[in-house]
Amino acid sequence: MRALRRQYVQAEPAPLPPGGGRAVGHDELLARRERLTREFAELQFDLGGLAYEMAIRDHFRVDLLARRAARLQEVDAELGAVEQLARVEGGGAAGACPNCDALYARGARFCSQCAHPLMRSE
Ligand SMILES: [Zn+2]
Repeated sequence: MRALRRQYVQAEPAPLPPGGGRAVGHDELLARRERLTREFAELQFDLGGLAYEMAIRDHFRVDLLARRAARLQEVDAELGAVEQLARVEGGGAAGACPNCDALYARGARFCSQCAHPLMRSE
């Protein structure tokens, strides 16, 4: 009986990552990468369209372009982080920030998006 119980315990899902956030599997990592890739392509397309509209009217709103470009850059950075995690973690042992849900690598002390501390206070 005792051996059986032990097996059951070992089959439990992996414990929370040391960061204290939610565990993120490889599948979720890939799904996130796909969503970000799509979002990036759409934002890039929109930015191109916006620049074109401004160009044919010879009226540039640089502030508008800069704002859109900043958002594109954010998505690009997030995509880069997800791709790196997918490569490094392989099996998908990264965690998601409990505050903003951004992904982090094993051993991270703070969230790179919102600076939320990730080490659990014991
Ligand atoms: Zn965060």
